[in-house]
Amino acid sequence: MTRITAAVCATHGAPLQIEQLDLRAPLAGEIEVTLEAVAICHSDIHYADGAWGGDLPAVYGHEAAGRVSALGDTVTGLAVGDRVVVTLIRSCGTCPNCSGGKPTLCDTPRANASPLSRQDGTSVVQAMNCGAFASHVVVDQSQVVPLPDDIPPEAVALLACGVITGIGAVVNAARLRPGQDVVVIGAGGVGLNAIQGARIAGARRIVAVDVTQEKLDIARDFGATDGVLATGPAPWKAVQQILGRGADAVIVTVGAIPAYNDAPRYLGWGGKVVMVGMPHSGAMAEFEPVVLAYMAQGMVGSKMGDVVIRRDIPWMADLYRQGRLKLDELVSGRWRLDQINDAIADTKAGGAKRNVILF
Ligand SMILES: [Zn+2]
Ligand SMILES: [Zn+2]
Repeated sequence: MTRITAAVCATHGAPLQIEQLDLRAPLAGEIEVTLEAVAICHSDIHYADGAWGGDLPAVYGHEAAGRVSALGDTVTGLAVGDRVVVTLIRSCGTCPNCSGGKPTLCDTPRANASPLSRQDGTSVVQAMNCGAFASHVVVDQSQVVPLPDDIPPEAVALLACGVITGIGAVVNAARLRPGQDVVVIGAGGVGLNAIQGARIAGARRIVAVDVTQEKLDIARDFGATDGVLATGPAPWKAVQQILGRGADAVIVTVGAIPAYNDAPRYLGWGGKVVMVGMPHSGAMAEFEPVVLAYMAQGMVGSKMGDVVIRRDIPWMADLYRQGRLKLDELVSGRWRLDQINDAIADTKAGGAKRNVILF
């Protein structure tokens, strides 16, 4: 048992409260990680606000970096002191989806109860398999990837979610080929990484679509070749003019329903919409089936960029070390855990980039 400090959500929509919790020791196949950094993702905020339901009290936070501080039985390939990125992607390795190379879609339900409890013994939900708004976590060994010591913890943390989701949407979900044209709707944390992914994948044109000029300007720094304001009438016509054709891939990185309604309009023949942004539960969007059928277009959801973390994260870490992937530039602010409500408020205020808690 380890006594830890965590930011707990006791009531949806209320500020998180800093508490001392108990974290049980890692069971077989699990590890304890002492965190160095955790980034704040919009998913954490949606959960904390109650947009997707979920039991309380809970600890959110799922983009983390730290060092292994204890090992459960049967853990292999990791040692105390190793620097790791901690993700929410827990995979059994043996179910049909894991065996088929899709560990983000693991079928096997989690067996172990939450490792978190209050000092009176009541259980606390470990949200998203992580509960990383905390000084320490206990997670399944499948959720981590060891990384070199020379990458700063903020950069490692970003590789846990926003970066892999954005790049993976382009490389794994859209399977973009060099020379194809991409539209990225939303130039926020995930959108900027979809733009980087399209650049790395060799896209011809990369058009960012967003509601603010400021975000379109930032998008250019990350590789967008063009920017179109979504606030104008029929922005897909402006994109069509830039490309001279419809897009091969449209990556929707925001959860706004109008963005989903418009996304297929940007597509050319055989193009594909990749749905990454997550609207509130129950929200519905519309599309025109005859157009998709006639133009042989597709729409596909992508969870966590369809990544295989032990394949994709070391690749992205190398891209960063070679100067080919921007991570430091994605960090907009550094905060302490006891400032987390201010950091969340800053993220809600519309910053394009990531706020990171450092321990
Ligand atoms: Zn996230
Ligand atoms: Zn599985």
